[in-house]
Amino acid sequence: PEPVPPVNRDTLAAALADERRRFVADHPRCGELAAAGREHMPLGVPMSWMAKWPGAYPVHVAEARGARFVCADGLEHTDLCLGDTGAMTGHSPAATVAAIARQASRGITAMLPTADAAPVAAELTRRFGRGPAPVTQWQFTLSATDANRHLIRYARQVTGRPKVLVFDYCYHGSVDETFATLDPRGNVAARRGNIGAPAPLRDTTVVVPFNDLPALAAALAVGDVAAVLAEPAMTNIGIVLPEEGFHAALRDLTRRHGVVLILDETHTLCVGPGGAVRAWELEPDAVVVGKTIGGGIPAAALGMTAELAARVGAGIDLEDIDVGGIGGTLAGNALSMAAVRATLSEVLTDDAFGPMIALAARWTEGVRVVLDDVGLPWHVTQLGARAEYAFSLAPPRHGAEAAAADDFPLQQYLHLQALNRRVLLTPFHNMALMSPATTAADVDAHTVAFAEAAFTLTT
Ligand code: PMP
Repeated sequence: PEPVPPVNRDTLAAALADERRRFVADHPRCGELAAAGREHMPLGVPMSWMAKWPGAYPVHVAEARGARFVCADGLEHTDLCLGDTGAMTGHSPAATVAAIARQASRGITAMLPTADAAPVAAELTRRFGRGPAPVTQWQFTLSATDANRHLIRYARQVTGRPKVLVFDYCYHGSVDETFATLDPRGNVAARRGNIGAPAPLRDTTVVVPFNDLPALAAALAVGDVAAVLAEPAMTNIGIVLPEEGFHAALRDLTRRHGVVLILDETHTLCVGPGGAVRAWELEPDAVVVGKTIGGGIPAAALGMTAELAARVGAGIDLEDIDVGGIGGTLAGNALSMAAVRATLSEVLTDDAFGPMIALAARWTEGVRVVLDDVGLPWHVTQLGARAEYAFSLAPPRHGAEAAAADDFPLQQYLHLQALNRRVLLTPFHNMALMSPATTAADVDAHTVAFAEAAFTLTT
């Protein structure tokens, strides 16, 4: 085959400038709202991440339903971002909304349990409890970040060891210990952009490249690791799939060294109703699910095996329970639990996933055909109901390889180009997620836009 030239930077710069102009012309009302936002909010947005979207300002949402949203300028968009998985249910699914409405008028938070919690914990056990030591004991937080943070504390408590092992370029929420990376000499260092780290990362964290079993074995043999915190497949530096045998070895090594294995299924819930744990027959000591389980209402869950829960319980004194670094006043509140119960039993059901995964396959195939047609040396990876393309021919084996292939201006162009054709991709990488409300027409709208972008970049 012909060698493919890299994307021409002048072509890219001109195309990006065109899309920026088009965005501003299309979104005058969003521009006014953004200007009002800048008066009393840093960067004009309620949370700084929202300022990172490409374009002069973010689109402001007037209304979102199913897999669509309408911006303040009245333009309807296909939403393949879905709140970066917070709305994997589709926006405002009817069953969840009805449960929220019912509960909202009957008490929102009381720091007391309601009847919804136990059935939710039983349903999560049905989905994620596997093998001889199934995950059966659940607690609830408002965010996956907090659920991960709690499990790290539990793991340090029960093992008496100081460190957490994570995979290079992981993301598990704003958890201090996880913002570490390997510097060029292979030492643990704060990740670029780490804001106000409370402690040197080498004191709290061990970092290993994903799929690198010799490095993992060597790191665990030191004996200072309390927990491995991992996504079953990496999804936050593009998608990096585990190689054959990786999970079996990870389980074996952690067991052998008495290390708590925490699998963060916040994104990999897209693999099926019981996430990758059920689909790939994994046997972690603990599981985290978050974001979408309440249909967008803040809620997350952490599950433990009975054995881990018993060890945790043995170390906790009732008198000190509220100042131990676990919890949250609103955690497990009545509204969240009602939302989770309805979402799991009526929206993200076992049957919901098949069509979502088929749509992700359609999206992947659409992208692959375009790449083949124009000869762009990129790849596309599907993981259940999500898929992503990235700017290297070969899929990466680990996070550093994925990071090396990243190209911020190119990514900004592709996002803005799609947005200007009314398709929203997941920001900060090139990802699409399918919901029960997503249609083949939504997927094809992306394929058409992507074909146009690929043509622009290569001619
Ligand atoms: N775990 C994973 C795998 C995530 O991708 C994220 C967020 N992107 C989180 C945890 C944190 O979720 P939240 O920001 O809702 O706490």
